[in-house]
Amino acid sequence: MDFTGSRHRVISEPTERKALAHGRSLVTYYSAMAFRLFSLLLLTVTSTGCGTAAAPAVPGRSSTATARQVWLDAFARGYFPGRSGQIFMVLRQGDFLVDRDPLYAFMHGSPWEYDTHIPLLFHGAPFISRVVSNERVSQQDVVPTLAALLGTSPPATASGQRLSQALATTTARPRVVALFVLDGVRADYFDTYAELMPTLSRLRREGAWFGNAYVTSVPTLTAVGHANLGTGAEPRVHGLVVNHLFNRVTGKSQEAYNALDPGELMALTLADVWNIETDGRAIVIGQGGAIRAVAGLVGHGACVLDGRPVLAASYTTRDAGWETNPGCYRMPEVLKPINAGTYWQEAQGTWMGHDISDAAKFRHSAVFQRFEGDALAAVLESEAIGSDEVTDLVLVNLKGPDYVGHAYGPTSAEMRAELTELDRQIARALLIIARKAGEGRFVSVFTADHGMPGEPRPGGRHYMDDLTASLDKHFAGVGGSIVQYFGDASNNEIHLDTAKLRSLGGSLRDVASYLESLGSFAAVYTEDEVREAQARLRDRR
Ligand SMILES: [Zn+2]
Repeated sequence: MDFTGSRHRVISEPTERKALAHGRSLVTYYSAMAFRLFSLLLLTVTSTGCGTAAAPAVPGRSSTATARQVWLDAFARGYFPGRSGQIFMVLRQGDFLVDRDPLYAFMHGSPWEYDTHIPLLFHGAPFISRVVSNERVSQQDVVPTLAALLGTSPPATASGQRLSQALATTTARPRVVALFVLDGVRADYFDTYAELMPTLSRLRREGAWFGNAYVTSVPTLTAVGHANLGTGAEPRVHGLVVNHLFNRVTGKSQEAYNALDPGELMALTLADVWNIETDGRAIVIGQGGAIRAVAGLVGHGACVLDGRPVLAASYTTRDAGWETNPGCYRMPEVLKPINAGTYWQEAQGTWMGHDISDAAKFRHSAVFQRFEGDALAAVLESEAIGSDEVTDLVLVNLKGPDYVGHAYGPTSAEMRAELTELDRQIARALLIIARKAGEGRFVSVFTADHGMPGEPRPGGRHYMDDLTASLDKHFAGVGGSIVQYFGDASNNEIHLDTAKLRSLGGSLRDVASYLESLGSFAAVYTEDEVREAQARLRDRR
């Protein structure tokens, strides 16, 4: 498949879309930045599905070398000093890392197609054109496109490009721009499950659909994807690189946005810029299944100079309700009584034969999706969105498909039920927005933070504790350990005790080479290699 020059090619006919959708064994990875900066470098790695990369689109280089370079660049885009680890891994295609929690039997995080190929859809005449594009686009392109709709400039750190072909010619401004991030939803769900998602399918037919939207950094996970979408910057700039960080000072791991502090986000979001520019007159609502999603979309609120408090709330397993950081954000009053406990009690604690009777397990069900939808509807009803000419921003994370995907996988009956509910809740939210803003006076956008792998080959699940034990045995011997933190499978990174490793006569490259010798890895990189690659990315500017 030749994608050369596809950036400005618009297709109106579904053949290519179909080819992509049905090309399950075809693995493509694209370096959006490289393409933009050099106009020529388009890196395509194809695979026959047996895990060996072949036939890259760069002449004169072996396929393996090309794939290794593409992945290394993707890690370099996702690298932030102090927050990233020392070892960066790409499992062979289809394989992935997990811990031993059955609710996380499937784990994203890789640079493979199933984790990076995401939907991207803009909808809302007269602002949005009806178009199908196979242009290679990235999450970073969303912010400049939304900025154009607002009639403002994107944040200075945004590196994405405005997707002009999605924008219709009009001098009018929408009263509401609503961004829905469908957590863990792959692009191919829009084909495979089109009939289960009548609203999203209709919007796709009527709006601007980008069939080649990709996450361009790794690891591919929630905190990173949402910050990419909220800031238009790369993780090396905005600083959100994983969901769970290792804090070397405390020796402990911590969640992204520790204690709900958006200060970890090192770039302004579009919502920040709009909040400051309108001096808080624009209503900004951020809502979702976890703070690591919401903060990346909504940004800093009042926790940046001249920022005003914006509405932001995320689900918490602490009390199965909603939480916020009152220093930066305002919690919508209507959310306070909406508690997940009511929902799982009503369902007698089960869903499709699964136990959902606590705040964590509950998330892995379509009932959670209904709960999120109810909460969103309540907030949309209670706030005065769309009531004046200052465009309001509604920034929503819908977390259900990710949790259901983690537990049951992309082809399960559970996923079908989840996506059916997801579509229903989206339809409901859009009706409320349309009633409040008026038909033809708002824009909705749908995309994802990352994808999800399917069932791997036998032996394709790799357990983090096994890998840690293997590394320690090889490098530290009985009772010793060189691994400081390896606690979140989606990170695809390991934090090592480098001083100890050195004292044992080993190097980071030794560790990477040892892992590569195990046969389950397509590539393993050291922090030094990723840092050097990041410097080269900078040189290309
Ligand atoms: Zn996830």
